[in-house]
Amino acid sequence: MSTVMTVITTGKSKPDWDELFAFTDRKAGRFDHRISGSPIWQLNKTGSAKLAEEVLAVVMTAVEIAGLSEGAFDPTVLPLVELWDFDSGGALPQNEEILEALKKINFRNIEISKNGEVTIPEGYGLDLGGIAKGAVLDILAEHMIQEGYRNFLIEAGGDITVSGLKDNGQPWVVAIRHPRRKGVLLGVLSLGEKGKRISIVTSGDYERFFEKDGTRYHHILDPKTGFPSKGLVSVTVITSRCIEADALATAAFVLGPEAGFRLLQERAQTEGLLVSEDGDRLTARITSDFPLAVEDLDLDLE
Ligand code: AMP
Ligand code: MG
Repeated sequence: MSTVMTVITTGKSKPDWDELFAFTDRKAGRFDHRISGSPIWQLNKTGSAKLAEEVLAVVMTAVEIAGLSEGAFDPTVLPLVELWDFDSGGALPQNEEILEALKKINFRNIEISKNGEVTIPEGYGLDLGGIAKGAVLDILAEHMIQEGYRNFLIEAGGDITVSGLKDNGQPWVVAIRHPRRKGVLLGVLSLGEKGKRISIVTSGDYERFFEKDGTRYHHILDPKTGFPSKGLVSVTVITSRCIEADALATAAFVLGPEAGFRLLQERAQTEGLLVSEDGDRLTARITSDFPLAVEDLDLDLE
């Protein structure tokens, strides 16, 4: 997944780390369109593929969140992602190239048949980058629960899922990075409940970006404009399943401060924190039961 993953767990014996790593790496590879021979690579290459249940489930959740966000989150965003090429540092495309790419993006054109055959139109391609990390964390969490682990935290590049509590029966402490100040925390919260899973995911414009002529171009693209989305600097989502938190964070980020807030506020069992940049300060908005108050956040830019 081009990221570092951390697993913290407690128990009587040391986990088989090599097994956990191999398991996760194998699973992650299935969702990556860049890995030659992977199911998504196959689908993009030939326009159709029969997907195994685990991969199909992720594509279906992606399509569901795409519908819910009216295409702000769109797994067919690959032509645009390739154009901006953040994998190699990023490049500002020509307007005509953007218009061409936009013609090949629309999740409504993904066909899924009853037997799990997925078909996309010519020139289309899936990029599950906005959802796959969350999916893999869920898969690993379920695997660990099956193996008998009850209390653990898994983190990978901004996505976190926890199960149960820490060794001492206390909740896990999770910090949210300040989107503009290195080494500073926006806020710190406690998460976890005995026997329960909870996930927290942040999408931000500071994760992958380049700057040109004083403008920041980041990796979360608006399928309406073809450009990096405007309005927010970060979105944090808390919900049980990490796959949903991941996709919703990206979706709300693209939707912006108003529609993004509504998406998270209206969804049951889901909380969100949306941060925008406003002159010399950040402004934050939180959903009704977000476990931090706006007053608890460090919103200063200096
Ligand atoms: P995240 O860091 O989870 O917000 O996901 C960002 C990644 O999702 C990008 O690096 C792209 O691979 C992909 N992506 C970018 N824009 C979108 C979008 N509008 N909908 C779905 N995925 C996107
Ligand atoms: Mg995401």
